[in-house]
Amino acid sequence: MTGSDAAQPRDFDAIVIGGGAAGLMCALVAGQRGRRVLVIEHANRVGKKILMSGGGRCNFTNLGASPRNFLSANPHYCKSALARYAPADFVAMVERHRIAYHEKELGQLFCDESSKQIVRMLLDECAAGGVRIETSCSVTGVQRRDDGFRIATTSGEAVAPSLVVASGGLSIPSMGASGFGYELARQFGHRVLPTRAGLVPLTLSGRHLDAFDGLAGVALPVEARCNGTSFRNAMLITHRGVSGPAILQISSYWNPGDELRLDLLPDRDAFDWLQAQRAERPAAELRNVLADALPKRYAQRLCETAFASRPMRQYREAELRAIAAQLGDWPLIASGTEGYRTAEVTLGGVDTDELSSSTMQSRLVPGLYFIGEVVDVTGWLGGYNFQWAWASGQACGNAL
Ligand SMILES: Cc1cc2nc3c(=O)[nH]c(=O)nc-3n(C[C@H](O)[C@H](O)[C@H](O)COP(=O)(O)OP(=O)(O)OC[C@H]3O[C@@H](n4cnc5c(N)ncnc54)[C@H](O)[C@@H]3O)c2cc1C
Repeated sequence: MTGSDAAQPRDFDAIVIGGGAAGLMCALVAGQRGRRVLVIEHANRVGKKILMSGGGRCNFTNLGASPRNFLSANPHYCKSALARYAPADFVAMVERHRIAYHEKELGQLFCDESSKQIVRMLLDECAAGGVRIETSCSVTGVQRRDDGFRIATTSGEAVAPSLVVASGGLSIPSMGASGFGYELARQFGHRVLPTRAGLVPLTLSGRHLDAFDGLAGVALPVEARCNGTSFRNAMLITHRGVSGPAILQISSYWNPGDELRLDLLPDRDAFDWLQAQRAERPAAELRNVLADALPKRYAQRLCETAFASRPMRQYREAELRAIAAQLGDWPLIASGTEGYRTAEVTLGGVDTDELSSSTMQSRLVPGLYFIGEVVDVTGWLGGYNFQWAWASGQACGNAL
């Protein structure tokens, strides 16, 4: 090869920026359809978020995934891709690769052994499609020309008629997250809707944090409600506020200043139960009665801060009604979130109004595609975000 040949940009049918869940899925589908695909990943390995997901066991999909499990300024956008690539389709691939898995709860599927198996599977499928993957490779410039895109990288130049942006969101910067996709979208005239951390612990401050002093590690089932949405699951008290699945879920619906309410006894009618307790154990103190339904230290704290604990027989019906009402509609005054450092996802992103919901292609720039978390589609906790990554990746891979 002469020196001038070496300087020639390498030629592909599609270049995918980002070797995460969506990028790898898109690449393997396009590769297996005979397309020459290059994946550019700036981290030293692909699929880092897959590896750390689900506590190392990757909650790779949710059997019940449907459009109602996703947040977006346009709730219809995700429908087409989700309908064309169902959880069962991904499960079929997992089974073909003989990866053992189990359902944990609420349709959530996890690997029995390790998330590494999912990354291995995606890499094997990419290899079967002849996909070229370059890690530790950074994009230094993107230009659109008549015949497609010219990408300058730290490993040289590459050209392709199609460019797929699969660079993910802003959560967990230490894992390679970057704002690159949003910047590229803006460079090509796309609107980017405001981003914020989702599926993230909430922080408390002042007397609201003091009320939980010494309770870090205590967990209890709650129903968390905000802006017309509610989730029933565990809440965990942390040193700086609250976390646990119920809180992570509702955090995606919460904006600073919004009202957040908790039902602390979600599995029972609090008033009926308190009345029954009064009849059965008239001499028992309220704090001991509450300790049967709530973690003991938490019940104790409620009786120090909100209710004066007396023997049950001393409460009139109206008082029990008032206590029940408070337990069922407890205000949680959050001051903020733990931010992108710990958030599982980024809400907002590339506006779907300017993308095709069947191919993920830009309506402004032919040949430019956006898939996965960089797009303004965000799933609930429980395998939904990977399902969106697989589904949007597959829709795009089939269009390249
Ligand atoms: C701790 C944690 C646990 C999670 N657990 C689950 C779970 O169990 N189930 C679930 O459904 N979802 C889970 N999620 C969410 C899920 O990981 C993401 O929604 C999903 O990975 C998004 O896929 P993506 O391909 O769009 O982005 P990513 O998987 O983030 O991939 C984007 C890739 O692009 C690369 N990149 C970024 N910028 C550039 C650049 N300039 N040049 C080249 N490459 C670049 C990144 O390094 C990364 O590899 C979890 C998230 C976190 C943080």
